[in-house]
Amino acid sequence: MPSSLIPHGSPPAYLTFASLAALGLPHATTTRHCPGVASFAEPISAASPVSPFRADAIRTLAAAGLDLRRVGYAKQIHGAEAAQAPAGGGFAGTVDVLVSVEPRTPLAIFTADCLAIILYDREARALAAAHVGWRGMVRGAAQAAVAALGRLGARPERLDAAIAPSIGPCCYEVDEPVTRELARAYPLRWEAWVTPGRPGRVMLDLWTANEALLREAGVEPARVENPRLCTACHPELLYSYRRGNRGRLATLAALP
Ligand SMILES: [Zn+2]
Repeated sequence: MPSSLIPHGSPPAYLTFASLAALGLPHATTTRHCPGVASFAEPISAASPVSPFRADAIRTLAAAGLDLRRVGYAKQIHGAEAAQAPAGGGFAGTVDVLVSVEPRTPLAIFTADCLAIILYDREARALAAAHVGWRGMVRGAAQAAVAALGRLGARPERLDAAIAPSIGPCCYEVDEPVTRELARAYPLRWEAWVTPGRPGRVMLDLWTANEALLREAGVEPARVENPRLCTACHPELLYSYRRGNRGRLATLAALP
């Protein structure tokens, strides 16, 4: 376990970031050992949204200072739209970036290889959680999260950020349809984010790419915590869609 991540429970039901814990921000990323988190078999429906956390998850994550009876969540579609979570929690819409200025109202992002990024401006008391895979990156999801926080009074240079466990360049092989989109969105730069793979394929480093995109959006690199824990390399702890898992990891944060 990277020293920047703190395991909770044995086996750990959730992980926290040392950096965000030091700031007093309640947050967690669940592991496969956390009960009561909806899987990919239970997708969120925009027509009749139901909280993706059952009673045992609510109980488990209360220990992290998160009241999931007030959780804000979305139907995620690999886009870059942002929405403010409803006051008191609930369904925020079909978006991949959630923002909040409401204390004690957790934001939830679901992943199983994609990045979940938490962004926090302690001074403006503004919080964002973003879902970013390669499609979201092509559409600018990380940058959209910084911009959405800006509309709530946050400033990029004041943001503390954390990147939850997600698929690493060790395991993320992509082919031409993906690299074509990357090249279109980030000409001149995308090649720095890939290394050669098998013929016709490359290994994509979503971590380095999103760190670069956050930096360009004005976030201080030293304030971006990325433990670089790969979901596909750690099947005993995490879920990986690439590895054929259908469970989901939830990354949560709430303003204190
Ligand atoms: Zn890996």
